[in-house]
Amino acid sequence: MKQLEGQHRLILIGPQGSGKGTQAELLSVYLQIPTISTGQLCRSEIAHGSELGKQIEGFVQAGELVPDEIITAMLKKRIADYDAQDGFIIDGFPRTVAQAQESESWLKPTRVIVLEINDKVAVARMTSRRACTQCRFKTTAEYVAKHGDECPRCFGKITQREDDLPDAIQTRLDMYHRVTQPVIEYYRKNDAMERFNGALSIPLVFMEIAHIL
Ligand code: AMP
Repeated sequence: MKQLEGQHRLILIGPQGSGKGTQAELLSVYLQIPTISTGQLCRSEIAHGSELGKQIEGFVQAGELVPDEIITAMLKKRIADYDAQDGFIIDGFPRTVAQAQESESWLKPTRVIVLEINDKVAVARMTSRRACTQCRFKTTAEYVAKHGDECPRCFGKITQREDDLPDAIQTRLDMYHRVTQPVIEYYRKNDAMERFNGALSIPLVFMEIAHIL
C-alpha cells in the first residue's frame, strides 16, 4: 500500500466509458482515500427518493447535466465529510468550465488525470456496461448473457443504467465534447494535468497513473 507523502486531491476527467470509475476505485484502494463520484451522489439521492433526488431525477435519466448550484452543493458537502479529510478522488466533476472556475477556491486538485478514448470505444463500452443495483459490482452485457443477472458478489440484480440506453448515450457524449472537453483546455495551464490512453487495459492504465503519483 502506498504511504501518503502529501495529500492527494485527484480529479479524473474523460468521456463516459473511459474507465474513470474503475480507475477511481483502484486508486481509492491504492491511496486509501475515498472516491467521490458526482454521478453516484446523484443516483443515490434518486434511489433514496429524497426531495433533492426528485429535483434531479429528470436531468440524470435524460443524460443532461444537473444544474451547477445543486451539484456544487452536493460535492462541497461530501468533501467536508470526515473520511475525505486526508484526500479524495473525484470522478465526474468539474463537467463544465463554469464548474471548474467556481470550484477554484475550494477544490485545489494536486493532479488532474485525463483519460482519453475515441467515441467508438466510448459507445461500445457504455452499451455493454452493466452493474449491480445493490453493491455496484461492475460487469458487462456479455457476462449477463452467459451467467444471468444475479450479482456474483451480493446476489443482487444486475441491470443497465437508464442513462446508458442509446439516446442518452449520444446526449451524454455530445455533452462531453461540447461542455466538458473545454475543461481540459482550462486545466492545461495547470502543471498538475496528465493525459492517459484510456483504451489500454485496466491494469496498464492504472500502472501508468500510479507511476506519476
Ligand atoms: P456519471 O455517472 O458521471 O456519468 O453521471 C451521471 C449523471 O449525473 C450525469 O449525466 C448528470 O446528469 C449528473 N452529473 C454527474 N456529475 C455532474 C456534474 N459535475 N454536473 C452536472 N451533472 C452531473
